[in-house]
Amino acid sequence: MQFRTFTITMPTTFRGVNRREGMVVRGEVGWAEFSPFLDYSAVECVPWYQAALDSANRPWPDRVRDRVPVNITVPAVDPDHAARIVLGSTCRTAKVKVAEGGQCLADDIARVEAVRDALPLGGHLRIDANGGWEVGEAVKAIRKLDKAARGLEYVEQPCATAKELAEVRKKVEVPIAADESIRRSGDPFRVRDLEAADIAVLKVQPLGGIHACYRIAEQIDMPVVVSSAVETSIGLAAGIALAAALPDLPFACGLATTSLLAGDVVTEPLHPVDGCLPVIRPELDERAFARVAAPEDIDERWQLRLEAVREELEE
Ligand SMILES: [Mg+2]
Repeated sequence: MQFRTFTITMPTTFRGVNRREGMVVRGEVGWAEFSPFLDYSAVECVPWYQAALDSANRPWPDRVRDRVPVNITVPAVDPDHAARIVLGSTCRTAKVKVAEGGQCLADDIARVEAVRDALPLGGHLRIDANGGWEVGEAVKAIRKLDKAARGLEYVEQPCATAKELAEVRKKVEVPIAADESIRRSGDPFRVRDLEAADIAVLKVQPLGGIHACYRIAEQIDMPVVVSSAVETSIGLAAGIALAAALPDLPFACGLATTSLLAGDVVTEPLHPVDGCLPVIRPELDERAFARVAAPEDIDERWQLRLEAVREELEE
């Protein structure tokens, strides 16, 4: 199996980065993606690698729906820009990034208000703090942002740890969703055991693949929202396939992220239509790939990462 490296510009800084790098690979049943973030160690990359192998070589689970409702993601941008992002999408649900370093609660409130006004009537607004608040700060911010939104759908990862999420959850009415506490804690079920969240965010690559995620969804005793790790349409399609296979899908999923990338590896990137993404298995397009193919030095770095992950697995 030959892994090929891509590097794609991101028009807006996200997670502090403005390039998305990764690899694509063709297996026995189709294309798959391996794109752990650059700051992840070889050990942390293992589930991402297993996810790529799973996606490339094992048929996806049977789907129970043909379209997956998705939210638009609004990075920590100014209010006008935030409104334009929502108005330019067909999504009825928006996820707004808050608690960004270097910004304050007033910035978050202004952004949430702008998004609220830009959403269609009956739309839903959720926020994601990426673990950026302490417990006290979170409680105060959630109450204010709930008012600004005229009702938040939920708040994702307000604090860093599952224990803190459990504390916040006791103090606010807004439902709590766990993301990093599930995919980076080493034990996705700790959140359930601590009663730390109302909703579980599952991401295919960091949790070891579609089949592994499907099993977690069966056992975690909470509604699931499938989200992306800001992937190309090839990686994204695996998330859509998971969302399409889950028996219950009460919330829009965080899979409308191709707009965060200035390029893709397929002819028709997976952009939402009427707030939904189609369930398809895209093929790599050589001409599209040529435009984002990584130069030799970046490719070498990724081949070494791949080797390090395989060594981890052999140990
Ligand atoms: Mg998140």
